[in-house]
Amino acid sequence: MVPSPFVLGGNFYYSNRSSFVFATLTYLNMSDLKLDFRDTETAFADKTNAQLKEKYRLFRLLNSPILNSIGTGATRFALALGLPVEGLIKRTIFDQFCGGETIEECDGHIKELSSAGIGAILDYSVEGKSTEGDFDRTKDEIIRTIERARGDKNIPFAVFKVTGIAPLSTLERMSAKKKLDAKSQAKCERIHNRVDEICSLAHSVNQPVFIDTEDSWIQDAIDRLATEMMEKYNKDDTIVFNTLQMYRKDRLQYLRDARKRASVGRYLLGVKLVRGAYMEKERERASDLNYPSPIHDDRSGTDRDYDAAIEYSLKHVEEISFVAATHNEKSTQALVEKMDELGLRPDHPNIFFSQLYGMGDNLSYVLAKNGYHVSKYVPYGPVRDAVPYLIRRAEENSSVAGQVNRELELIEVEMRRRKAA
Ligand SMILES: Cc1cc2nc3c(=O)[nH]c(=O)nc-3n(C[C@H](O)[C@H](O)[C@H](O)COP(=O)(O)OP(=O)(O)OC[C@H]3O[C@@H](n4cnc5c(N)ncnc54)[C@H](O)[C@@H]3O)c2cc1C
Repeated sequence: MVPSPFVLGGNFYYSNRSSFVFATLTYLNMSDLKLDFRDTETAFADKTNAQLKEKYRLFRLLNSPILNSIGTGATRFALALGLPVEGLIKRTIFDQFCGGETIEECDGHIKELSSAGIGAILDYSVEGKSTEGDFDRTKDEIIRTIERARGDKNIPFAVFKVTGIAPLSTLERMSAKKKLDAKSQAKCERIHNRVDEICSLAHSVNQPVFIDTEDSWIQDAIDRLATEMMEKYNKDDTIVFNTLQMYRKDRLQYLRDARKRASVGRYLLGVKLVRGAYMEKERERASDLNYPSPIHDDRSGTDRDYDAAIEYSLKHVEEISFVAATHNEKSTQALVEKMDELGLRPDHPNIFFSQLYGMGDNLSYVLAKNGYHVSKYVPYGPVRDAVPYLIRRAEENSSVAGQVNRELELIEVEMRRRKAA
């Protein structure tokens, strides 16, 4: 039976004696380490007044669901018609969320982030390609990001999406465990070789690499590839990290199983923990094809599993290297407190925080200032090819209650602070 709590002098007391002792111990152990994620002076230290104003204007636009959906619709339409809108995209949303069109164009941002103690992760954001030639070119570009990161402590991780180097239909067939004909088998081998070439290089130059995650119906193939790469390259150091979307109902159990697999296979487990970016698409497909949605029914289910995954990874932090990839202040604060509670130092070698360029600066800059390992994805690539990424950011910002408001509120606070200073 759950003991009934009552409050006395600010503490919880339980009618059951052992629960009382436990509650008291937990209470005494609780950390009160609070980071000030409202410290806008730190968050926007490297933004000029003009840059701050520009950011404010863009986020105001993103905050309006109507303008946002007109904007994203018109962008798709204009690009499909070949209208010259790339310059406009580049000067607005691209500049806000991307580092540039080439690795070299990102150099200034890498430097800027490093001066605040934040690492950069070069994310080649080309999506929607479909030929074998395209996949090879994308693989070569990912290889270049690893070469660029090699030996540069300001670029702690590399990253890639398997869909950038593999046909969707093949990943889907592999995930559904459908029998592959000779042609699909050859494609499957090429996917395997590209992934292995990337991870093998990452291993040989000791450069950790994240494998991003997308749709659930292609994920089984990616999980198997990621697991094989970890078995091969994570024997001594954690080089390969898979990504787990905690909005999926099955991922907490997947994490527990992955740890056991790693322990039996004697390799180190690397995971990037995210909530998940494709919720609407997942639900729509499940409803269209009449299968149960793999996504939690509501926000609280996702939040609960996200925090449980962080807690589980912390509990096994000697076996699991993990990245809290989130803009959620509550989850970030909870992890900071738990680390403090467990006596884990901020720069623990297996614990990392990460945000996306142009978002969550209040978390990135404040975490870095306090000595935590923090990095930001710096997406780059030709403007036209980065549009799906940008539209995702725009739609996420308009549909995710709180995210844009949070950003806007912080910019307003900083603008007022500067005016008063
Ligand atoms: C460094 C980094 C790397 C990333 N890599 C990936 C990746 O590889 N794959 C990927 O899919 N995403 C990735 N993302 C995006 C991520 O999954 C989220 O979409 C985004 O970060 C917003 O979630 P949040 O944790 O920041 O918190 P919040 O903004 O607080 O939460 C929003 C999220 O909560 C969940 N949610 C909201 N409403 C509901 C609801 N009604 N029911 C169930 N769940 C709900 C959704 O996942 C939504 O995105 C990455 C994010 C970062 C910062």
